[in-house]
Amino acid sequence: VDSHDTHDPFTDSERTLPEQVEPVDEVSDPEPNILLATRKNSQKLLSEWDIPFEQLEILDLIGTGRFGAVHKGKWHGDVAIKMMDIDTDDEKQLQAFKREVSYFRKTRHDFVVLFMGACMRPPHLAIVTSLCKGQTLYTHIHLRKDRFNINRTIQIATQITQGMSYLHHKGIVHKDLKSKNIFIENGKVVLTDFALFSIGRLSKQKTRKDSLVIPDGWLCYLAPELITSLKINTDGTQDMELPFSEKSDVYSFGTIWYELLAGEWPFHKQPVETVIWQVGKGLKQPLNHLQASRDVKEILMMCWSYSPDSRPIFQHIKKTILRLPKKKGLHRSPSHPLHLSRSAES
Ligand code: ADP
Ligand code: MG
Repeated sequence: VDSHDTHDPFTDSERTLPEQVEPVDEVSDPEPNILLATRKNSQKLLSEWDIPFEQLEILDLIGTGRFGAVHKGKWHGDVAIKMMDIDTDDEKQLQAFKREVSYFRKTRHDFVVLFMGACMRPPHLAIVTSLCKGQTLYTHIHLRKDRFNINRTIQIATQITQGMSYLHHKGIVHKDLKSKNIFIENGKVVLTDFALFSIGRLSKQKTRKDSLVIPDGWLCYLAPELITSLKINTDGTQDMELPFSEKSDVYSFGTIWYELLAGEWPFHKQPVETVIWQVGKGLKQPLNHLQASRDVKEILMMCWSYSPDSRPIFQHIKKTILRLPKKKGLHRSPSHPLHLSRSAES
């Protein structure tokens, strides 16, 4: 199953919503009254999710990412507050931010972080979500060096595919699917930070004139069509308008599947230029050191297909993962060491 028509009238109707945030041009409108009413309604819907910045109690800094600081906070309970460091003088950028917010408010899924609202009035732009307890998958795999047994690996991966196929159904491309954006909360997957990436292009990038800013452990999630589109503008700003798609999310999932199996990133410790060159040429991380079944490796090869059209959709990946043989007698030991695979170095 190579290509999938993801056209979905429900999704399409959702896609028209963001434009409704913009002011109405009544003169050129054929049916001004109807449209005006719809747009007013949509603005009202959006304003329901507007959290006045003063209402937030901002507590400890959790960390700083691409967009700005993330703080613990209080707003009717514990929340995570993601400050969006974007140029608020530009009306276009503000609209782009609101457009993403109009998508977030429609997400309700067990494996997707709970969006609670956003501060939409400049200069304080922020996204407020539930505060994820537990650790990220990144922390588990790369810092704590936890190894999951095959049953737990299958469970985690299945939950990621479920959350992802839900987001895609809602017309949301994640664009930044990586182990740092996946929390394991009470044993359950929570996907975070979807759809924000393209706003990054609008943010005040602190780039050196002639260098790409490549955050540690980011490149290996980028599909070939994204890697070959990376460029720096003449004014030194980094262009974040990459051709993200549902299929580039699938490629990123392939990398997460590899991390789960190998306990490290693909192209581990290789220089940025080498990785860019290899991925651009269609070369993949060799899998011969990976002690895993052919079916397990086959999932990697499908997700990492050079051509986006050859990559499966998440529902298909989920089914394939669920068909993998499980080990009996491991059910009660979620952190049992994984003997299924070992990386070249470990
Ligand atoms: P990155 O995802 O690249 O680590 P972020 O800006 O998304 O960068 O996150 C900064 C820090 O805040 C990270 O330590 C991340 O785990 C944490 N964080 C982000 N969102 C949440 C959340 N909803 N709940 C708890 N911690 C969060
Ligand atoms: Mg994040």
